[in-house]
Amino acid sequence: MFKKVLIANRGEIACRIIRACRELGINTVAIHSEVDRESMHVKLADQSVCVGEASASDSYLNIPSIIAAAEISGADAIHPGYGFLSENTYFAEVCEACGLKFIGPSKESIEKMGDKIAAIELMKKSGVPVVPGSDGPISADDPKIFAMAKKIGYPVIVKATAGGGGKGMRIVTSEETLQNAIVMAQTEAKAAFGNPDVYMEKYIEEPHHIEFQILGDKYGKTAYLPERDCSIQRRHQKLVEESPSPLISESLRKKMGKAARNAAVAVKYVTVGTVEFLVDKKGHFYFMEMNTRIQVEHPITEMVTGIDLVKEQIKLAAGEKLSVISEKVKILGHAIECRINAEDPDKDFIPSPGKIGKLYLPGGPGIRIDTHVYSGYTIPPFYDSLIAKIISFGADRNESITRMQRALREVEIENVKNTSSLHAKIMNSEQFRKGSVSTDFLSKHIFGK
Ligand code: ADP
Repeated sequence: MFKKVLIANRGEIACRIIRACRELGINTVAIHSEVDRESMHVKLADQSVCVGEASASDSYLNIPSIIAAAEISGADAIHPGYGFLSENTYFAEVCEACGLKFIGPSKESIEKMGDKIAAIELMKKSGVPVVPGSDGPISADDPKIFAMAKKIGYPVIVKATAGGGGKGMRIVTSEETLQNAIVMAQTEAKAAFGNPDVYMEKYIEEPHHIEFQILGDKYGKTAYLPERDCSIQRRHQKLVEESPSPLISESLRKKMGKAARNAAVAVKYVTVGTVEFLVDKKGHFYFMEMNTRIQVEHPITEMVTGIDLVKEQIKLAAGEKLSVISEKVKILGHAIECRINAEDPDKDFIPSPGKIGKLYLPGGPGIRIDTHVYSGYTIPPFYDSLIAKIISFGADRNESITRMQRALREVEIENVKNTSSLHAKIMNSEQFRKGSVSTDFLSKHIFGK
């Protein structure tokens, strides 16, 4: 097992990883930017190193500084968390070259899944169902795109091959807007990922976003865990997740779980990852992408299975054998996660950084809070707006919702606008309470557009 792990991240996930390390008896090194000196992850870690100025490119994305921090502090492994360098093949490669274990899959697995077109191709070969599409990058001045879109059938969606966080996507309903959508998606993709390539696929109407956690060891054993339903999204970004999904029957769970496991086997996946699918009205499912890291929403799976995914991830990276057997995993109850962002829901979700005054976060039976904020903490404007995750667990969906409603009423974050009131509206909505909702739920039922 590792002796000392450097956490190349910040915020709630850095705190989560430090906690897992502590339970495993591993020492921890936090890295931080100049504005993050007072951050919770710095306080929780055994050691900390400042790696650069406020902007992420100078600090949390600064590979030479991070590697130097690991070497100076004597760490033997690096945990990248999510976002930042977590899916960066070059970083994984540099870590290994410097004798530091990268806590994640091999650089080959990251590479294969990082390019969405290549990933879709590989999935097709492995017998995993995929959305019908262009099978390669497209360009606005290629006259063939019109016939292609017609064959796929409108509406189609133009997506970035390097995509992430819902960026670089355009839905196209007719021929007239196709070229324009391609150019817009390319511009957005270039700005967000430095790669303008886009492809086209069928837009699945009223889809449900269902994903499966997978785990793998270096001896070739893989497992999948019960699904997460992440259909409640704003601009293709997840806001609420739940497990299990009210949409998924036991037989569909098995079928999709096995497809997820096939995806993991196809890339010889080691540690933890997620296979994302879209499910249409008829219950047909399609591979969308694989995330080769721990996800924001991992706690709901931890609650319903009793498995500590971050500890598993570290153990698998250290070369331990996988002990999870999918068929033996029981669903212990129902869990929901609400992402509380420092954004103003009444002003088109503009970020709301600043100093938190009084802070009361909920507790009591069935409530877990993953956060890095505290009373008097100043939320810097430079990073992600996620400030807390409220996770509710109950014997069934109804209890989990009721507990979340109760918890949301207890939230008090003085001076910082946040999304807790939006979550209360979602929890109170009749459509949500009835069962699984599709990805257009927020725009249709909450914002009424
Ligand atoms: P990202 O990597 O940016 O998160 P994904 O491929 O995971 O992008 O897609 C994010 C979301 O966009 C999905 O959860 C879904 O809501 C929507 N989406 C993506 N592809 C399609 C599609 N073919 N049909 C319908 N919705 C889609």
